Amino acid sequence: MGCYFCGGEVSGVEHIPPRSFFPKGKRQSLITVDSCDTHNQAKSKEDEYIRAILLSSIKLDGQHQIEGLRDTNARALERGVKRAFERRPTKEQAKEVLDIIEKYEGDPRAGAKTFNEIDSKGIMDFGLMTLLNKDAREESVVGNNGEEIKTTSFIYDQKRFDIFFECMARGIFFHELGERWEGRVNVLSHTFLKDDAAQRDKNLSNEYLQHFDWSEAKGAQNEYFCYEGANKLNPVTKERESIFFNFCIFKTFYFTAIFQF
Ligand SMILES: [Zn+2]
Repeated sequence: MGCYFCGGEVSGVEHIPPRSFFPKGKRQSLITVDSCDTHNQAKSKEDEYIRAILLSSIKLDGQHQIEGLRDTNARALERGVKRAFERRPTKEQAKEVLDIIEKYEGDPRAGAKTFNEIDSKGIMDFGLMTLLNKDAREESVVGNNGEEIKTTSFIYDQKRFDIFFECMARGIFFHELGERWEGRVNVLSHTFLKDDAAQRDKNLSNEYLQHFDWSEAKGAQNEYFCYEGANKLNPVTKERESIFFNFCIFKTFYFTAIFQF
């Protein structure tokens, strides 16, 4: 049958969502689908990137089940920085680094700017740390009790985000229907819908979200991932127009994957 995504030669399995989205001890009975190299191993860096983006979201504050994952994520970031230093910069590189640090002294965004510049000049490779610090900016958000919270937001790479969730969507489809979806797939991201989104988009989001019925949702470790599927029928002809799956990550991030006929 081939890879769940491209139909190519199968070399292993891919977890939907990736195993790293579940803490150790919560990795039993996860969903796996047959996959080629490109849609498995080659994407583990992408998985780590998306996981880091989600875990750094302030929306997760108060979700105790993900604390362990947040620790793991912080350690992964630290390792990236440590590895960069272990490769021992030359004298010239060390001087360049010091110059850059000095340049941004006193700047409230010094950390992000420093990482960016060191990385873009190819002086050191900090790995994920630099990716996450790209375009980082200081921001204030309003907390649940109306208090102001200082945070750092960063503009994530939309394309990488889209590819990751397309893999998720196709993986769920393959797992549930036992075949590969060959058409296009649309993934709506409800949680990341902007406040100033078009009314049409908000309505569409509501329309799908009202289908969430958690008593019916599937997922062995549903605090980390669960989903449910349904058919959308034409209101007049009652013919099936699309198959869609609602899914939720970390009890916080809601998505709908739509497979239109
Ligand atoms: Zn593939």
